[in-house]
Amino acid sequence: MTVGNLRNAQLTINLHAIYSNIQHAVKRLDPGTVLFQVVKADGYGHGAIQVARVAEKAGAGGFCVAILDEALELRHAGITKPILVLGVTDPELAYLAASQNISLTVGSSEWLRSANKLLQDSHAMRPLNVHLALDTGMGRIGFQTPKELEEALGLLNDNNDRMAFEGIFTHFATADSQDDSYFKFQYQNFEDFMSVVKNKPKYIHVANSATSLWHKVCGGNMVRFGISAYGLNPSGREISEVPYELKPALSVTTELDFSKLVKKGRSIGYGATYTTDDDQWIGTVPVGYADGIPRALQGFSVLIDGHKCPIVGRVCMDQFMIRMPKNYPYGTEVTIIGRSGDQEITADDVADYLKTISYEVICGFSSRLRRKYV
Ligand SMILES: *Cc1c(COP(=O)(O)O)cnc(C)c1O
Repeated sequence: MTVGNLRNAQLTINLHAIYSNIQHAVKRLDPGTVLFQVVKADGYGHGAIQVARVAEKAGAGGFCVAILDEALELRHAGITKPILVLGVTDPELAYLAASQNISLTVGSSEWLRSANKLLQDSHAMRPLNVHLALDTGMGRIGFQTPKELEEALGLLNDNNDRMAFEGIFTHFATADSQDDSYFKFQYQNFEDFMSVVKNKPKYIHVANSATSLWHKVCGGNMVRFGISAYGLNPSGREISEVPYELKPALSVTTELDFSKLVKKGRSIGYGATYTTDDDQWIGTVPVGYADGIPRALQGFSVLIDGHKCPIVGRVCMDQFMIRMPKNYPYGTEVTIIGRSGDQEITADDVADYLKTISYEVICGFSSRLRRKYV
């Protein structure tokens, strides 16, 4: 993977903002409750290792990732706190996970039987820590009924020298919604599941960012804190009140690399989809869809010198063109996400234009854009 170290285009990550967001979240936790920082997808595009290090300083007691490779990356960087893989891992990898003290998510007894056999055959030195996932209404992964859960608890109990019951959890589908009826339905299902759990594991967790922000009775003693550490509101704009200031950590900037006066009636870009209706200053910005600036951003704006400049013509793979209010020279800063003068473009603004959520926007920048930490 080529990183563009020799060009002026970067993701700037404000680690102070991440620190502040996590510290606020930690302060609001009930005593005995621990925050696991979610750093999947390379820390939502911010750099998993850098985010993990700041999160530790801000009080995180562990980490969540989506896949085992991400967990190993943290271990290889010297991070020793608990790590939970939230997705389903191949039972063949149980030994590797156990040997690195990485906890795995389990949603079926079949998985436990396969992993148990493999751990037995490989003479694992320490038990694999497992977290049982309960499907209370997300419909993604996890045990479907308390009866299924009971079977798994029995298997764990019978094989506790190889597999340790470290945690149990569920995930809410609508914690970021004004309407809390489905949340309550899921919470009731969670309690039904929990009624069959006689020996409570170390970690019981139901909360993502949205649950931790807006649902006081979230239960459990661990939260899986994701998007809000990066300073974004999990609901987008649906719930605007937040208990503490969320400081966005990511900005995306580059520099103008070409500027010219285009006469009236000339077209710009592939497909000639834009034609000047008067003489216009057109600038060229040296990033494109290969950097994670989607083609669908045609018509959206970037900021130069506190001015909104519309993206004209199609976004190319490595460049796009903008209409500017006047001539700006080569090297003028162009802000794609962030502040310029008294204007700001947020990840939510971009998400709204693309009809998606900020999560997808921040994870979408490619590794060709270098990351700068401040
Ligand atoms: C990604 C994820 C989270 C974090 O969610 P945020 O909305 O970013 O806080 C928590 N739990 C699970 C199971 C996840 O997959």
